[in-house]
Amino acid sequence: MTVREGSLEAPTRHPIDWRNPAFFDRDAALDEMERVFDICHGCRRCVSLCNAFPTLFDLVDESKTMEVDGVDRDDYWKVVDQCYLCDVCYMTKCPYVPPHPWNLDFPHLMLRAKAIQFKEGTPTKFRDTSLASTDRNGKLAGIPVVVNAVNSLAHSPAVRSMLDSRIGIHKDAWLPEFSSKQFSKTAVASSAHPVRDGAKTPGKVAVFATCYVNYNEPGIGHDLIKVLDHNRIPYVLVHKEACCGMPKLELGDLDGVAQLKDKNIPKLAALARDGYAILAPIPSCGLMFKQELPLMFPEDADVQAVRGAMFDPFEYLVARHKDGLLETDFTDPLGKVSYHVACHLRVQNVGQKTREMLSMVPQTSVNTVERCSGHAGTWGVKKEFHETAMKIGRPVFRQMAEHPDGEPDWVASDCQLAGHHIEQGMQGKADGKVAHPLTLLRMAYGLPA
Ligand code: SF4
Ligand code: SF4
Repeated sequence: MTVREGSLEAPTRHPIDWRNPAFFDRDAALDEMERVFDICHGCRRCVSLCNAFPTLFDLVDESKTMEVDGVDRDDYWKVVDQCYLCDVCYMTKCPYVPPHPWNLDFPHLMLRAKAIQFKEGTPTKFRDTSLASTDRNGKLAGIPVVVNAVNSLAHSPAVRSMLDSRIGIHKDAWLPEFSSKQFSKTAVASSAHPVRDGAKTPGKVAVFATCYVNYNEPGIGHDLIKVLDHNRIPYVLVHKEACCGMPKLELGDLDGVAQLKDKNIPKLAALARDGYAILAPIPSCGLMFKQELPLMFPEDADVQAVRGAMFDPFEYLVARHKDGLLETDFTDPLGKVSYHVACHLRVQNVGQKTREMLSMVPQTSVNTVERCSGHAGTWGVKKEFHETAMKIGRPVFRQMAEHPDGEPDWVASDCQLAGHHIEQGMQGKADGKVAHPLTLLRMAYGLPA
């Protein structure tokens, strides 16, 4: 049979069959890796996206046959380790995704392999599960008497060397600080604005703060609600939200994802059914509710309801503008903004809404960089991956410094973790200039911090 090059239909994605015991069958997963790796070896389009593909192609090229059948199957796991599930290969490059008969879903095959690894246990399981427990870490480290000690220890060279050698957290990787002023405990209540529904946007918002905003940078959450208030959009916070589950998904801990889903989804589904738009200011968390949970629980009506109500904040604000319901009374120009599109936002297929919104601010020019920064959640801080993460990010670090109008005034990424990783890679050129796009928008409206 002749199989045509690429698919003419829009890509579809199959549910993740993780509750079928066959999903965890090691040999079957290796067979599928062999099939997929063989297609990738013949294609090689993704060679520059991350380190998973160069690792695979090097294994093939250095094998006796120079084909996938010459690669030791034990070495397949080296490819798995290099994938951080950004989804970019599936969403932006691969012509063989379903409905193409080759039915290729590289990231979800890597997820299956990670889930098998997680069940079997790895030598780095303690570190990996500790890093992925963002909720627990935030609650513990954010306790007022503890937080200063935790933050200063994280900057101590001696402690960092110990974390490097004993736990496997790279001594030079940027680590977030914790805040004692948890966003959900310090956010002001919404004013009683009347609800104004638009054709594209519900007129009231539920803020899913995310672990990072709640425990590490609550200012981003405060900026979001200030922007909502300025636009007379009433909001509520999601009560006692749990982690979205993305860090556990990236580890392959699918039971852990399911437990978090059971905590979040009933509350979020009630809000969705009550007509709220749900906004998550970290793209990975939004993607979890928009894509990964719906694929893990395709029959769950609550999960599907949440999917329909979940917005990236800038997706919501630009749609609000199209509804004629957004204020554009900007008072403060932003100047030269170097803006990085986070991978987990890029693959949501909503277009570059952050760029669109920031470009509405007068005397503001936005230099957009659409490439992986290499941080990838917790992956880039791990000892064995940090140097690769910096290498992957190098073109981004360079492009972010090269705003066509001159030295940038601001360096921004939808993913604040990526923003700080980029700051590190820019080696002093971004010091004091990193700001989340929601912070920039709040400033452009002239609203105080
Ligand atoms: S999902 Fe991302 S990291 Fe994984 S193989 Fe694809 S491009 Fe590379
Ligand atoms: S994932 Fe698709 S586009 Fe990328 S190398 Fe493999 S076959 Fe080619």
